[in-house]
Amino acid sequence: MKCRVCREPAVIDLRRHNANFCIEHFLRLCRDQVAKAIAEHDMFAPEDRILIAVSGGKDSLALWDILLDMGYQVDGLYIGLGIGEYSEQSVTYVEKFVESRDVNLRIIDLPTEYGYDIPSGSRAAKRTPCSACGLSKRHLFDQAATEGGYDVVVTGHNLDDEAAVLLGNTLRWQSDYLGRQKPVLPAGHGFPRKVKPLVRLGEREMAAYCVLTGIDYIVDECPKAVGNKHLGYKEVLNLLEAQSPGSKHDFYAGFLARAVDRFASAEDETIDDRPALRPCTACGAPCSSEVCAFCRLVERATQDVPVKLGPTAKKEPTSL
Ligand code: SF4
Ligand SMILES: [Zn+2]
Ligand SMILES: [Zn+2]
Repeated sequence: MKCRVCREPAVIDLRRHNANFCIEHFLRLCRDQVAKAIAEHDMFAPEDRILIAVSGGKDSLALWDILLDMGYQVDGLYIGLGIGEYSEQSVTYVEKFVESRDVNLRIIDLPTEYGYDIPSGSRAAKRTPCSACGLSKRHLFDQAATEGGYDVVVTGHNLDDEAAVLLGNTLRWQSDYLGRQKPVLPAGHGFPRKVKPLVRLGEREMAAYCVLTGIDYIVDECPKAVGNKHLGYKEVLNLLEAQSPGSKHDFYAGFLARAVDRFASAEDETIDDRPALRPCTACGAPCSSEVCAFCRLVERATQDVPVKLGPTAKKEPTSL
């Protein structure tokens, strides 16, 4: 097995590219794919201040490493979800990464700063754990980006994630979700710009990137992911990919090139129909009702305890 570029011994085969690569040329391929995604979707400029959401998993840590290597200014944000051993371990991988590089990390711990964890919050709010978790993370990413004056929030969603979400949305023809499934969500209505620079790379490539660069990451999945529909969609797509390499990429890239804009116009109409946003009376975040969904979740999760306001309302100094 020889590297396609230099003919030296290869360490990885990428069937989608019908080629094998040595360490140096595989790492270069990963960086090139990220650079291509950033340029193709006009994600951010070299002078932009970037906030990356990190979980301790392979994708976000590999992406942070790649963006730093490319010379971008990238600070990290980790949210402690209070999901037992999984959360206790995942933060240690993030801290280890940060120790080895000269970068800023902000940690927001839900149990200590907001008085609830994802298991208790989901029970109190009668939401699934992933729904309570997604709501909490979105709110805190937006808030941290706005307070910190960042130009853009970056997440480590990769090609496997996006293809699985696309399959789920297509199976149900959820036109509003399909219209928003772009790797760039523009800033607006008081929300920051959000981008996904890993959309050209899959899970296997990101795991290999971490192994080859010595980045330690939490290998275990979050225990709340068990039974998650997206894991099932990923399995289906993996079967298709095994039979026909490149299927995931063609499915997702073809959607972006030929279909997403048709759904985006349907989405624009639904945005126009939405009530105007106004500041949440508890935390100031833009929302369509008096109190935003996050503050309502905090209130329910902490029961009779008054709503604990986040750093915006308390104007606490941040570590960034
Ligand atoms: S699997 Fe669900 S609960 Fe676990 S981190 Fe992901 S969204 Fe949160
Ligand atoms: Zn090579
Ligand atoms: Zn609020």
